[in-house]
Amino acid sequence: MGRDSKRSWAEPWKVKVVEPIKMTTIEERRRALKEAGYNTFLLRSEDVYIDLLTDSGTNAMSDWQWAGMMMGDEAYAGSRNFYNLESTIREYYGFRHIVPTHQGRGAEHLLSQIMIKPGDVVPGNMYFTTTRLHQELAGATFVDVIVDEAHNPADESLFKGNVDLNKMEDLIAKVGAKKIPYVCLAATVNMAGGQPVSMANARALRDLTAKHGIKIMMDATRAVENAYFIQQREAGYANKSVREILKEFCSYTDGCTMSGKKDPLVNIGGWLAINDETIFEEARNLVVVYEGLHTYGGMAGRDMEAMARGIVESVQDDHMRARVGQVEYLGNKLIDADVPIVRPIGGHAVYLDARAFYPQLTQDQFPAQTLAAALYEDSGVRAMERGIVSAGRDPKTGKHHYPKLELVRLTIPRRVYTQAHMDVTAESVIEVYENRKKATGLKMIYEPKYLRFFQARFEVL
Ligand SMILES: *Cc1c(COP(=O)(O)O)cnc(C)c1O
Repeated sequence: MGRDSKRSWAEPWKVKVVEPIKMTTIEERRRALKEAGYNTFLLRSEDVYIDLLTDSGTNAMSDWQWAGMMMGDEAYAGSRNFYNLESTIREYYGFRHIVPTHQGRGAEHLLSQIMIKPGDVVPGNMYFTTTRLHQELAGATFVDVIVDEAHNPADESLFKGNVDLNKMEDLIAKVGAKKIPYVCLAATVNMAGGQPVSMANARALRDLTAKHGIKIMMDATRAVENAYFIQQREAGYANKSVREILKEFCSYTDGCTMSGKKDPLVNIGGWLAINDETIFEEARNLVVVYEGLHTYGGMAGRDMEAMARGIVESVQDDHMRARVGQVEYLGNKLIDADVPIVRPIGGHAVYLDARAFYPQLTQDQFPAQTLAAALYEDSGVRAMERGIVSAGRDPKTGKHHYPKLELVRLTIPRRVYTQAHMDVTAESVIEVYENRKKATGLKMIYEPKYLRFFQARFEVL
């Protein structure tokens, strides 16, 4: 068919190896759910039919990446795979210095420890769980400066990930630029529903922060998906490649943290990139303490090779069109059935609006957690809560954060599931929606101190 955009989003690859998955009965799923304390993170993967918990580390690698795994240079120091990874990141993302880490939070940890002083303030376009926690552990307070539209699941603005520049200016005026080590700019914004940041917004943020000497550190986890949305939605970019757009976007920032488990099409890995020489020197020193030597940072040589090759594949326009096309296929099926989801459809996931499913539940009855459990019980589809449980507690007051959004994320792993899997998922979501009046909510019976959503346990109310 070639690259004829009149045609639908079919994948630019075919299947060479398959992995069987287990089919379960409703009794088996009820038992598994109870044992897991109604937390989908605590289910065994074996008991899951279609696993839409996360797109993190769940990617299918290509034959070229697997071939690269055989080329692993497992030297402790100076592995050739590191140099290939470093030059690939420089070429596609454009940053000067690279520090490898075992995954994204390893990079967040290094960055936070190096750049944040106690009492600092870190603005960001909505929080991310591990990112904010590392900022707080280093002594900073996180301040949300995303546009208001991001908090409204029904708002159809095309760039709901944008930073509100007025909020940013107000914050600088209030606390002073010296207290702001950097702005954390996520592209796309996971917690807002996979929503993109426009190029114009990144450019304007660069102008504003440059005036005050404030750095921009990007959360580049899904920056390639962000680049695809710019190509599709922003004036002046329709004829540019995803690859070119990505590099321009990165040029407005000073560095990034990266979870290689998302865009870069691998199962493990990450990096910290930084243009500033002094910060790089410190990061290259500190990585030895927490991750490993600065030429592997917790990754095997073969994993660095797979990630370098994954980066090359991830910026292909045909790949991105099929990747986001599949997510939109699922989202549009739900929209057609009048199921309330976050609009516009995000890049890596479809987000169900749990408040609109269950208006009878208060936020303390965990509507999104309840919905994720109901979906698993119905069909064995595993999703993730992104609401009050994920938001955690305010470290100062000890009270729950009450996020405006109470969402369930149906996250699509890259190159893993078929269109028929998306059909079954949509059928199950629609059935759970039809039965929505029966839901009674959950009670939390065990709450861990950090990132509670991973291990909290619940009972049916
Ligand atoms: C996954 C993710 C991270 C953390 O990366 P890990 O590889 O899971 O440690 C940070 N930011 C965003 C937006 C993410 O989605």
